[in-house]
Amino acid sequence: MRIVMLGRPGAGKGTQVLHLARCHGLEVISTSEVLRRAAATPTPRGTAIREAMSSGGLVPDALVVDLVADAIDEAGGSIVLDGFPRTVAQCDALDHAFSGEPVDLAVELDISPQEAQARIRRRRTCPTCGVPVAGGRCPRCGSEGVRRADDDLDVVLQRLWVYERETRPVLDWFRRRGVLVSLDGSAPAERVTEELGNVIRCIERMSTVGAASGRER
Ligand code: AMP
Repeated sequence: MRIVMLGRPGAGKGTQVLHLARCHGLEVISTSEVLRRAAATPTPRGTAIREAMSSGGLVPDALVVDLVADAIDEAGGSIVLDGFPRTVAQCDALDHAFSGEPVDLAVELDISPQEAQARIRRRRTCPTCGVPVAGGRCPRCGSEGVRRADDDLDVVLQRLWVYERETRPVLDWFRRRGVLVSLDGSAPAERVTEELGNVIRCIERMSTVGAASGRER
């Protein structure tokens, strides 16, 4: 299964993909984690990525696409992409990276810009793993959660603006393909997890029925 998670910064994508990995066996490719690793290298590419991320802009498509395509190649069969694609050009590149196999599900976690700002003001992230920290300590490595540098208000406003301009058309791209499901991201995380689980079970059932009817023909 191939899933992409979309939604404004602070919508809860990072929290939900952890659950998808734990309960549905999906391998998570977190774009920002991939980018942070590449940004740490002392190369012109590392510098370009660092500058884009700290300003709240998007990293140029050509750089992101290469890195994510490599991560997809290394991953197993069932994948959830967190934070990719964020532009229409990245959508087209994704088709290529999946060798023409379609995305099964694009999930939009829908929250208002006001809710996004309020959540980001409160949120803490693991400085080592990059995952959301809810109870003070990272669920993976136990590090103390910190405020991300790009969670400062002026950078957040820029990220929200970039979302409207660059990433909203991505929702339409998946809607036209009939795979977009929009969930209320402002609901409690457990409720979103439950709804997401229902959607995934529904898709799994449909593909089982499709495979069985294919065999009968
Ligand atoms: P995130 O943690 O997913 O909000 O991403 C943090 C930052 O990483 C973004 O503000 C962008 O600078 C960069 N980034 C993440 N995903 C992408 C992407 N698909 N394309 C370009 N830049 C990205």
